[in-house]
Formats: sequence, structure tokens, C-alpha cells
Amino acid sequence: MSQFTSKHSQGKYLSDGVFGVAKEARERKAELGNDKVIDSTLGVFFTENEELGTLATFFEKYNELDSLKKAKYAEAIIGNKKYLDAVENWVLDDVKRDFYVRSVATAGGTGALSNTMWNHLDAGQAIVFPDIAWGSYKVMAREYSLETMEYELFDENDTFNVKSFLDNCREAVDKHGKVVAIINDPCHNPTGYTMNDVEWKEVIEGLNKIGEKGAVILINDIAYMDFSFKGLKESRQYMKAFNNISDNVMVIIAFSMSKSFTSYGFRVGAQIALAKKEETVEEFKKITEFSCRSRWSNIPNGGMEIFSDIMNDADLLKKSNEERAEFVDMLATRGNIFRSEAKECGLPIYPYKEGFFVTVRLDKEKTLDLQEALKKKNIFTVAVGGGIRIALCGLTQKKVKGLAFTIKETLDEL
Ligand code: PLP
Repeated sequence: MSQFTSKHSQGKYLSDGVFGVAKEARERKAELGNDKVIDSTLGVFFTENEELGTLATFFEKYNELDSLKKAKYAEAIIGNKKYLDAVENWVLDDVKRDFYVRSVATAGGTGALSNTMWNHLDAGQAIVFPDIAWGSYKVMAREYSLETMEYELFDENDTFNVKSFLDNCREAVDKHGKVVAIINDPCHNPTGYTMNDVEWKEVIEGLNKIGEKGAVILINDIAYMDFSFKGLKESRQYMKAFNNISDNVMVIIAFSMSKSFTSYGFRVGAQIALAKKEETVEEFKKITEFSCRSRWSNIPNGGMEIFSDIMNDADLLKKSNEERAEFVDMLATRGNIFRSEAKECGLPIYPYKEGFFVTVRLDKEKTLDLQEALKKKNIFTVAVGGGIRIALCGLTQKKVKGLAFTIKETLDEL
């Protein structure tokens, strides 16, 4: 503890986490060569040539962009109007909009999630998220001194555990008079699960009921949505369910350009708030604008400009969608190989449907042991609550082939 540190920041040190294992993998690659190492750590897409997958259209547009546009501030703290309109159209596409919408540009999806926790909960109130989840939710909760409540992601049938989700939300409302709950869907990190329309319908109906007792804010974290195997249009259709929210429920969609436009370092995202009353989303916009001002002021203008330029040019949009679709195909092939091999050798995995990651289902003790044993075989994975995560996004088909068998063998050797 240091006299220089504020009370609320005492002892808040970030553990090595994903970036720590990624570093170990990098070092091993430098020592043995790329071919000898399986680096399935970071949530970043690599092509079959083991190069960072980038949408050429996006970066060509960036190179063409006038320096002044890259250099200047955004036109407003909440982001450029053209960007915000484009984001709403990209995310909601042709989904009927029987709700009011307001959006705010944020520093990545992280900024969207973090703003939402800060603006809609007081210290001591509860943030609800799944028991198997992206680690940063916990970091944010701790930063804002929030109570965390974890719902069981899967029920006994390995489908979304609507009951556990709603039970936790109800308990939070009973205790604190309100709740903020996260659903990371489609392409859940780290399991690759995607909910179906029935599960979404039950979630919204249940939240409306809970809303009779107190305010409900549902965060839909869509960081990986654009890598859904269903295609862009189909992947958004579940959002129709948001038309049925009651006056006491607000949905905040956390959008990120990181994966969707392979622009992880750009730090461009958005919060898209949906509610039945205009005053609800107006209030959202005002308080969020204030938080943006205090945290990062405004986000990179260049990133917003490219996004809206692409969205407003049918040819560029088509081209960038085709480029992404190629990546999605590669990912689907990798996913199918891993899933079928896991089935063949009896490696237990969570129900993988689509997306960047698949997770081996393990109890806590086995998780770290397996992670360490795999490292000895030059296979680097990430330990998550409930197992080890394999980042299919970072592996070539060649490296995915046989991986499930090796993991199963290693598990049996423990
Ligand atoms: N949500 C999930 C589940 C993620 O895995 C990530 C990034 O890894 C994000 C949100 C936010 O990403 P970014 O802040 O890069 O936009």
C-alpha cells in the first residue's frame, strides 16, 4: 500500500491473465519457431497464413483518409452524428424498431460496458453476469465497488439457463431495487454458445416481470456478433425480442469495432440504448455524455470516419462484408474440426455453436493442471472459470486438426 494511492485504488493490481500467457506463447515461438507452438490465447483473428486478419477495405480507406480527419477531434463528445447513425443501422439492420434509440460513441466495447456499469449502478449494487465469462466484467465491477452475482450459463440440457439468469436478476432487484445484467450473445466468449429466439423471448418476458419491482438494465454484449456463422442479417434477428420490453426495462447494446472490423487498436465502439419511453434514452444520453467527457473526452475521429464512409458506400460495404465472410468461413471450418474431433475422442466441451472460442469443460482443480501440462507440449491456452479456452480465431486449420485429441490425451495423463 502506498500513501500515494487513493483508498479506492488500494491493491487493485491487474493479474497477468490472457496477455501473460500470450507473452509466454510468443517467447516459446521465438525459441522454437511458429510451427512448433500452438498459440490459442488472444481473441484476435489470424488467417490461414498465420497473419493478423485485417479487412483490406477498412485499412485502404484509412490510408486514403485525409490527415486532417485523422488529426481532428470528433464533432461531439458523444461521437459524430454520421457514425452514430451508421452504428445503429449496422447493429439493428432491418430489425423493426418499436422503441426509442440513442447511441453514444465509446472507447471500444470496453468503454461501453464500463460506462454502463458506472452510470446505472451505485457502489454496493449488483452486476449480474454468467459464471463462465470474459474476465474484464469482474475487473470493471471491482473498479466501481459493485457486488457481483453470477448466473449459471447452462442448464442440465446444456442450453441457456433462463431460470438461473432470472433468479439472479430478481434477487438483485429485491435487494437493491434495480439490476444491471449482462448477456454476451451471440458467439459467447468463451464458450461459443448462441441463444435461440425462444430463450430470448423467455428472457425478455421474465425481465418485464422483474421490472414490475424495480428498474432493469440489460446489457447485450455483442462483441463477436459479426462473426456469427448465420451471416450478418440473420445474426441480428433475435433483437426483435427487444420490441417487447416494458417501460421499466432498458436494453444497452455494447458494440465494438475491434472484432467486427478487425480494428482492435482503434478503440472504437458504442452504447446503443433502447427503451419504450423517449425520456429514458434521453436521460441515458445526457449522463453518458458526462462520463465520456470525464474519461476520454471523445474517441478517435479517424475510426468513426472510416466506419461511416464504408456504411454509406454500397460497394465498399459489400466488399468489406465479403472480406469478413471469408474469415467467418475459415473460423467455421476450424470450429467444425474441433467440435467433431472432441466428440470423437470424448473431450468434454461446452455447447459450441459459433464464434472465436471453444471451451473445454473442467473442474477448477483440473483446469490449471491441464493448462500447465499443455504448455509442456507447447500448447498455450487460457484458463477461464469452468475450463480452458481455445482461441480458434488464432489457429490455422492445420493446427486445429488433432488438437482435441492431444488435449484429451493430456487430460487423461493427469
Ligand atoms: N466483450 C467481450 C466478451 C470481449 O471479449 C471483448 C474483447 O475481448 C469486448 C467486449 C471488448 O472489446 P474492445 O474493448 O476491444 O472493443
